[in-house]
Amino acid sequence: MLTVDSAAATPMMAQYLDIKSGHPDALLFYRMGDFYEMFFGDAVAAAEALDIALTKRGKHLGDDIPMCGVPVHAAEGYLLSLIRKGFRVAVCEQMEDPADAKKRGSKAVVRREVVRLVTPGTLTEDALLDARRNNFLASLAVIRDELALAWADISTGEFNVVQTSHVRIGADLARLAPREVLISEAVAPVIAEPVSDTGTSVTTLPRGSVDSDAGERRLATLFGVATTEGFGAFGRAERAAMGAIVAYLELTQKGKLPLLRPPRRETRQEAMHVDAATRRNLELTHALSGGREGALLATIDRTVTAGGGRLLERRISAPSCRLDVITGRLDGVAHLVADPTARSDIREILTQCPDLDRALSRLALDRGGPRDIAAVRDALHAAEALQKRLPDRDLPGLLKRCRSDLAGQEDLWNRLETAIVSDPPLLTRDGGFIAAGIDAALDEARQLRDEGRSVIAGLQASYAADTGVASLKIKHNNVLGYFIETPATHAETMLGLGERYIHRQTTANALRFTTLELSEMETGILNAGARAIEIEMRLYSELKSQIVAAATALGRAARALAEIDLTAAFAELAQSLDWVRPRMDGSRAFHIRDGRHPVVEAALLATGTQRFIENDCDLSPEEGAAIWLLTGPNMAGKSTFLRQNALIALLAQSGSFVPASDAHIGIISQLFSRVGASDDLARGRSTFMVEMVETAAILNQADDHALVILDEIGRGTATYDGLSIAWATVEHLHEVNRCRALFATHYHEMTALSDRLPGLRNATVAVKEWKGEVIFLHEVRMGAADRSYGVQVARLAGLPGPVITRAREVLEVLESGAREGQTAPGVRLDDLPLFSAATPQAAPKSVSELEDMLNALHPDELTPREALDLIYQLKALQTKSSEL
Ligand code: ATP
Repeated sequence: MLTVDSAAATPMMAQYLDIKSGHPDALLFYRMGDFYEMFFGDAVAAAEALDIALTKRGKHLGDDIPMCGVPVHAAEGYLLSLIRKGFRVAVCEQMEDPADAKKRGSKAVVRREVVRLVTPGTLTEDALLDARRNNFLASLAVIRDELALAWADISTGEFNVVQTSHVRIGADLARLAPREVLISEAVAPVIAEPVSDTGTSVTTLPRGSVDSDAGERRLATLFGVATTEGFGAFGRAERAAMGAIVAYLELTQKGKLPLLRPPRRETRQEAMHVDAATRRNLELTHALSGGREGALLATIDRTVTAGGGRLLERRISAPSCRLDVITGRLDGVAHLVADPTARSDIREILTQCPDLDRALSRLALDRGGPRDIAAVRDALHAAEALQKRLPDRDLPGLLKRCRSDLAGQEDLWNRLETAIVSDPPLLTRDGGFIAAGIDAALDEARQLRDEGRSVIAGLQASYAADTGVASLKIKHNNVLGYFIETPATHAETMLGLGERYIHRQTTANALRFTTLELSEMETGILNAGARAIEIEMRLYSELKSQIVAAATALGRAARALAEIDLTAAFAELAQSLDWVRPRMDGSRAFHIRDGRHPVVEAALLATGTQRFIENDCDLSPEEGAAIWLLTGPNMAGKSTFLRQNALIALLAQSGSFVPASDAHIGIISQLFSRVGASDDLARGRSTFMVEMVETAAILNQADDHALVILDEIGRGTATYDGLSIAWATVEHLHEVNRCRALFATHYHEMTALSDRLPGLRNATVAVKEWKGEVIFLHEVRMGAADRSYGVQVARLAGLPGPVITRAREVLEVLESGAREGQTAPGVRLDDLPLFSAATPQAAPKSVSELEDMLNALHPDELTPREALDLIYQLKALQTKSSEL
């Protein structure tokens, strides 16, 4: 631990320590010229996290002060690494010109202030954000029995709130995947667990900062209204949660508030309930391996704009439960499926459309630049082109609304179109982004500056002629400004020329001079250049203010662009993959004809090995059975079938067409999917415990509009315990939950349930057996499977031949025991010699071993090395059998 004492520090260090004491939890990026420097513990931590050199600067209380720094121009990259590693960063800038500080005395320290606190949930820079993902900052408030969750994305302006509960909170957080969650110190112990389970960065706020009255006041001030009632009838916890977000933004943005839209209250009935485990199992946004590759989202994303990509993720994460909303979206997709030319034109236009939301948010926070203004211009250009391409007549409601949201910005667009050059520089201070002809004073200053430069070129030629030194050059540096330079070899000539050429400097190889004329010209050029930049800055501010003043309408346009992009993307997907429009209603139907799994199908297509086999599914209670009990061999395709039906429902309610030849779905309110036996050791839960906790959540929550997918529940314990639990679970789903469900199991005994439960039907995935091999047909048929073919599958997987042979023997005994009504199969197993005793000493079943080896042999797949090894193995086998 480093000891620091501001009384013992130099004036600058005292300032540093003073500022640092206000931000103990953050690394302090202390601006010194072109660097952000860090000192003491911050320096040690940052040097390690960023893998940069740790140096020292002066001493404090007799010890070296550790220091490290990052150049300002490369700071974004370092910020990103630090934020990803869980740090927060306070950015402290110089608030005055060092020259002004000097005027106060040689010891005066440049005034500095923290201008921003960078935290995971408050990022706006493109380099720090993933363009196609939202970056949510969430806040949880508990007031008595009320629990509310608010969330905002300051890079896009979204602001929402929902009432939640201890049971639902995990699902809500899993859906949003916020980058940062704010919770009050007072309630942290109560809600810390579900929050920490999500792996999000948690920021604990002091007790008083999450308060409903203060929240109401903050919201009213932010949106310039007397009361927030106009936005919705918010409960106390909701107001507190939203207020905490605003307070935190005030704190981190140091008073510069981002453009937030008025908060939208989400009701429980609006979105399909999909909890965290279901999201994981169905691999909606991330594959089980953790990456995005291989997840549903990456497979179906055909959007061409970042805003469209973000909207797709939100839709997939929160499919709608409202029939009118779903139908509206599907109408839009159908319209663009039917008109491929319009679709391709729209997508072409959108390809040129930048990220309007994020440009807007940076401009509002004063973190923007000329390119953000150009982005608004180009987005408005796309909006204009889209309006032309989507004639009002015959448009379905959703697209019509989008079209009208794009309108009304023509004046702003014209202004930006004429004012900004087509490809502006990144930074305002570089100048050169305002087009010529916009401002007479700017044009004049630029002319002077540019003419000056050509006059200098002319001067160089005349000086060269005048002095007779052809190699004479006029150059520029920051110390001397413009100067004449000749090689040192011409020293005598130059110094002998008299007063016109004033000697300034001699270097190892050159002599430097100036003239009165050159100095005057320089002042003129510099003045003109500075004046031009000044005018450009002023015009930039004016344009920025005009854009920010139109922010509400521009935000609407941005949402419309994203919606059109997503609608066209769904249409593109539907047409390219032959998906159909699902028929949706309020019934409890679930009838899918020729359903496919979008991700497995895409994977099979990519490898070109095999065609995906379509399968029907009918869980409509009116048709007789709402629950299907699916048995079938390992590897037959049970899990694929289960998941494909869940995904079809989820896609349909997200507003997409679905991979099937026909689909009739009664709106699903809750979707649950569980797979038996998956460890969660990080949370200290065993395989079986996880399975049971998740099953309990389903049995306690699923209602009659839920769709439940259970894959091999009960597998994580002893056979009879597992079978009993699976059995009772199916009965409960049938009798109490009365939901639509698919239940896959290897417990063939359970197929007997269909005799007792009228709403349960047996289905199986067919295989063919051919010369002892199983052939997977991947076809789901009515009826029960006779066996699991586990041993055959194990052989395919490469289990050693002796193990397979032995397993067959054991299986035979067990099965005959079961046939003869043995309750404890172990009785008959005692008759079998033990495996360990059988293998090494007892005679190897050489013929069958040889046979197994040969059966497992695929000559085409062997490398020469493997072939050679095989010959040695065969030889060893022969030696072993001849010895016995
Ligand atoms: P287990 O009981 O061992 O978990 P399973 O019956 O659940 O097996 P899946 O994991 O669903 O089997 O499928 C195994 C493989 O079979 C998949 O990875 C896929 O490649 C292929 N497959 C599944 N369904 C189909 C299908 N309908 N058409 C073509 N291939 C399929």
